[in-house]
Amino acid sequence: MKILVATEKPFAAAAVNGIREICQAAGHEVALLEKYSSKEQLLEAVADADALIVRSDKVTQEVIDAAKRLKIVVRAGAGYDNIALDACTEHGITAMNTPGQNSNAVAELAVAMMIYMSRNCFTPGTGSEISGKRLGIQAYGNVGRLVAAKAKALGMEVTAFDPFVPAEKMREDGVTPAETVEEMYAGCNFISLHIPATPETRGSIGYDLLSRMPQGGCLVNTARKEVINEAELEKALTDRTDLKYVTDIAADCQAELNEKFGKRVFATPKKMGAETAEANVNAGLAAARQIVDFFATGCTRFKVNK
Ligand code: NAD
Repeated sequence: MKILVATEKPFAAAAVNGIREICQAAGHEVALLEKYSSKEQLLEAVADADALIVRSDKVTQEVIDAAKRLKIVVRAGAGYDNIALDACTEHGITAMNTPGQNSNAVAELAVAMMIYMSRNCFTPGTGSEISGKRLGIQAYGNVGRLVAAKAKALGMEVTAFDPFVPAEKMREDGVTPAETVEEMYAGCNFISLHIPATPETRGSIGYDLLSRMPQGGCLVNTARKEVINEAELEKALTDRTDLKYVTDIAADCQAELNEKFGKRVFATPKKMGAETAEANVNAGLAAARQIVDFFATGCTRFKVNK
């Protein structure tokens, strides 16, 4: 089978070598399309690929239509909103992600962001400590669980809200389950977002929730910009001059937020949550192993489409 690795932003060399080794050992051929600059290059490259590995690359309906032999596409990473899932299903293509592989990298960034905002964006002046503060984790998945463990180790009190995770599981981890998301915002100095962008979560974080936060509350977003209602975020930051927002995924109106709110807001210049050497390699190798298993045994363990 021909496995195409199409990455506008390439994997580290160690990841590419590892992907090659895993695929070739199973008798597959690997083709590389890196740093491509036009959609046409991707459309041409996928034409004869049986499998596709991507990072944040957009696998649109058009790409799927052009990929006549494609059987599986794997997003090396957690979020898979860059893949046209319905188009995959329509063509009988299995779409997967590689959950958990970059979670630690993202969790470390979320913790770093809390400290950064608590210490005046590393500029002179009196800051505050995160130890002893209350942290609310919105979505107790792979990243959320790791943020909780790290925050506890740093002396924070941790609460989580996730309707799909049993409260018992949170209690076992020493995390207090929140009954409602509103209650969690009202009781926490920091909220760390780890919800996926779904039709239900898009635009769901807005004025009502933010204005419930206690004095000096800080929202940390390493999830997706789409889950924020930006107009309402701006209103909350305007009405409550104590609130802060830090994100790994700049808002569409980020320049305006930066200008209006100064050090109360911060966005990384480019999404960097998963940008560690370790995560890069882990996710790439996991994608390769999942493809090899899929062709060898039909394993669809991490399938995300219907
Ligand atoms: P995951 O699939 O392990 O966990 C997602 C959790 O969200 C699940 O526990 C699920 O039950 C919960 N959930 C779904 N809908 C919810 C809702 N309405 N309210 C509360 N909880 C809800 O995903 P993960 O690996 O923890 O990643 C979380 C998100 O972080 C990803 O979807 C992705 O958008 C983002 N992410 C960002 C980066 C980055 O570079 N900044 C990297 C990886 C992941």
